[in-house]
Amino acid sequence: MERRKVVIIGSGPAGFTSAIYTARANLQPLLFEGFFSGPSGGQLMTTTDVENYPGFPDGITGPDLMNNFRKQAIRFGTDVVTEDVKECDFSKGPFVIRSSKREVQADTVIISTGATAKRLDVEGTRDGEFWQRGVTACAVCDGAMPIFRNKDLYVIGGGDTAVEEALFLTKYASKVYMVLRRDSFRASKIMADRALQHPKIEIIYNHTISLVEGEAVVTSVTLEDVTNKKTTKRVAGGVFFAIGHTPNTAFLGNQVEMHDSGYLKVVSGTTQTSKEGVFAAGDVQDHVYRQAVTAAGSGCMAALEAERWLVMKGLTG
Ligand code: NDP
Repeated sequence: MERRKVVIIGSGPAGFTSAIYTARANLQPLLFEGFFSGPSGGQLMTTTDVENYPGFPDGITGPDLMNNFRKQAIRFGTDVVTEDVKECDFSKGPFVIRSSKREVQADTVIISTGATAKRLDVEGTRDGEFWQRGVTACAVCDGAMPIFRNKDLYVIGGGDTAVEEALFLTKYASKVYMVLRRDSFRASKIMADRALQHPKIEIIYNHTISLVEGEAVVTSVTLEDVTNKKTTKRVAGGVFFAIGHTPNTAFLGNQVEMHDSGYLKVVSGTTQTSKEGVFAAGDVQDHVYRQAVTAAGSGCMAALEAERWLVMKGLTG
């Protein structure tokens, strides 16, 4: 069976940064970029302009940025395979990584499979309907698009993410409505207060979204009052799901420790998981920052920690 010093699972900013660093350290990493699990490049592939990634004063599109990451990783010798990892065996070293096409032994593994923003299965919001034509799951990524300017925007959810997204959208929207399915926030008090006190934000309690309609882009939403099932159609320029994320960790079974939410546990200030020699970088272990630049930063940390671990175990030769 083929044996690698480093196998990287996942192809967002964290995975490709780990690849750049381990490839430059002559560790010849193998990176599984995924196939059915989504486009190589992760969540940035579904965004338009990225304006907050340092080094690009005029901005760059998400796909262009990720294509650059990928090219840079390959330039230094990363082998990239377009396959999904189905399962891993971390019971003993070398670890075993299986996709539908291959089985590889790995001395160290860096998991950087990211997280997927949750969406509701509501009519009008699905792929091929208004998804990415006014319906998104990331205000920070998409909110500055011209279609959302000076429009009434609807943020679905009442957690810290929803508040952050609503506050962000106030820069562009004429008004931001937060739709909460119950009569109170899940967000921390300080964040909830910010939303409550913001003149451009209005909270709609005890409602769910039941329909999104439009023409080229979204023009209306229908909300349902959960207390009496009464529906109301309202003019809208955009819908932003902010109902949490699901980390992509199901394929790991219970081989590494996770938080109840499914995010991987790492030793504080490091990328070390509960399994020695297995590291985690990017959103798969970070439910707080979730930015491309923080993911890339932790990808660098994982690469340096993996390299040190290989040296410590005498596995670099
Ligand atoms: P949360 O799980 O905290 O909140 C999810 C929100 O979405 C809740 O209001 C929930 O409602 C609502 N929701 C969930 N499912 C549905 C549904 N089917 N229909 C309608 N509404 C739904 O997720 P977040 O992403 O907000 O936060 C995740 C973690 O990250 C938290 O620990 C948070 O504190 C942290 N975080 C911290 C930040 C910071 O410190 N600045 C910023 C962002 C996140 P309900 O309450 O009724 O369940």
